[in-house]
Amino acid sequence: MQRSYWYVGSPDLAVVNETPPARASIYSSEDVRRWLQETGQSLGAGREVTATFVIDLDGRLWIADRHSEHVQCARGGRVLSAGEMTFRVEPGGVAVAAVSNQSTGYCPEPESWPAVAAALDAAGLDRPEGFTTEFVFRRCPGCGIRNVVKEGWYECGACGAPLPQAWNCASEL
Ligand SMILES: [Zn+2]
Repeated sequence: MQRSYWYVGSPDLAVVNETPPARASIYSSEDVRRWLQETGQSLGAGREVTATFVIDLDGRLWIADRHSEHVQCARGGRVLSAGEMTFRVEPGGVAVAAVSNQSTGYCPEPESWPAVAAALDAAGLDRPEGFTTEFVFRRCPGCGIRNVVKEGWYECGACGAPLPQAWNCASEL
């Protein structure tokens, strides 16, 4: 069964602003182009642009400016996945060049990929076979800090306590 993720980041960021960042639901490459125009995004090197994304509980892909918090992009809701997505925008089509599960607000697992793949396939966007960069998040049972596990080293960067092998970011101390 697919896990869904509650927001677990800083409470300060969880408050959905009165004017939350513009977001767009993506059902086609045209939706990506429209979002680019409406939000004044500019394409960088390689005609690429990176956005914040979430997949909502209905499997819908939402994107927002990359400086937006995921919880804002999700309007405070639960998600099936979240991270950063890089679109390559060519005259002939839009493809997803890179995707990561980098969201310290939701700490989604690499195993959340199928939700991303399904949304991109439904929108007809070419995509990679998996996250191009994977993050492994764990909450320290000792001090409560959420860590990114680096190179398989399951140790808290703040207090040195061992981190569990199983995903635990939703649990409280
Ligand atoms: Zn710790």
